[in-house]
Amino acid sequence: MIKAQRGTKDIFGEEIATWQWIFENAKNVFQNAGFNEIKTPIFEATELFNRGVGDSTDIVNKEMYTFSVGGAEKNETSITLRPENTAGVVRSFIEHNLNRQSPPQKFWYFGPMFRYERPQAGRQRQFHQAGVELFGIKEPSADAEVISVAINFLESLGLKNLTVELNTLGCPKCKNDYRESIKKILAPHLKDLCNDCKMRYEKNPLRILDCKNENCQKIFEKDEIKKVILKDYICDECKEHFSELKNYLDELNIKYTINKMLVRGLDYYNRTVFEIKSESLGSQSAVCGGGRYDGLVEMLGGVPTPAVGFAMGVERLYTLTEKVKPKKIDFFVVSNDTTKAMKLTQKLRYNNKSAEFDLQKRKFAKQLEKASKIANFAVILGEDEINKNYYSLKNLATGEQNIIKTFEELINLS
Ligand code: ATP
Ligand code: MG
Repeated sequence: MIKAQRGTKDIFGEEIATWQWIFENAKNVFQNAGFNEIKTPIFEATELFNRGVGDSTDIVNKEMYTFSVGGAEKNETSITLRPENTAGVVRSFIEHNLNRQSPPQKFWYFGPMFRYERPQAGRQRQFHQAGVELFGIKEPSADAEVISVAINFLESLGLKNLTVELNTLGCPKCKNDYRESIKKILAPHLKDLCNDCKMRYEKNPLRILDCKNENCQKIFEKDEIKKVILKDYICDECKEHFSELKNYLDELNIKYTINKMLVRGLDYYNRTVFEIKSESLGSQSAVCGGGRYDGLVEMLGGVPTPAVGFAMGVERLYTLTEKVKPKKIDFFVVSNDTTKAMKLTQKLRYNNKSAEFDLQKRKFAKQLEKASKIANFAVILGEDEINKNYYSLKNLATGEQNIIKTFEELINLS
């Protein structure tokens, strides 16, 4: 038997109602906040992610589904299944000159992402993200807007006990000073850091702080190192940006904690970074990650454009939400006359009612049994009903049965 690939999952049956409900909430909340849906391709040129996610990240180094197509004679190209969606949205923003529209340009998306990592609870190889990207605004009001939209969405799903962790990485200038001090203090410990950190030390030293390796974490706990990590290195402008953002969040009653170790997995963030976590998730506790990426549009060849966004892991949202019961259909047409049942069903559907009928000429009792499982009402079309031109309508919750004279009456009842 051919089975689904490790780290992938079929989503169907009882799970679908909850998935659809999560999608509907995302759509409502994001659209109410003026974000427009964008669907970008599942695969892109590998180079987009190498540059747009960053080659010091785990994603680019270990987790990408990359393959070449075309063959040597047809200009072989390397393509990658998208591991995240910011790079794709930015590519699209540049390609379609969306910077010409008046800012902010606001987008939301919902779809599958692919990362080759070790599958475990809350971690898959094909998973889904819902997210937003907001372009064109450098003011901290945009950071607050994006964080509050994330909170609105999580609250619409009934999620509680979430914590927002917040940090600022500063701008390229202050980040540089910080990077140099981190490098200096870690230099004597380099040999004890994990291999990934050794690589990060050269390529993107701040990412070292994001390391999950226990040994590395212990090293960061050393007093003299901790002091450098927690040092206030942020320049005045970045400080002002951060403090304005915090004021907005206070005004919106959004609670947050400052986590100076939060640097996030992608290379392109500057200033604000944030994660939203739920303790109920255990070790994979982050449901949402986001931040500001003012340099990315320019870096990928566009006109310099500030931007801020987030992505949420839908599988993790799914584990946290109460499950939605599948909805019953309005009518099940019970009849021995398949043609008549088929026609009435079509008419009901045409009038925006959900309806089914029996495709197999099964006995009345069997049809009713099926009806009571999946429908709110059974419309009975027996011999008498057909001859005398009326419907018997059975309320399948109460068992009550009534005679209904006209089709109009029927559709107004349910
Ligand atoms: P982690 O540290 O958990 O690997 P990340 O920093 O790689 O997270 P992001 O790239 O920020 O994650 O993605 C945003 C969100 O997408 C995460 O907070 C998480 O909820 C979800 N996510 C990321 N990778 C996976 C995965 N492999 N399976 C399921 N959800 C995921
Ligand atoms: Mg990851």
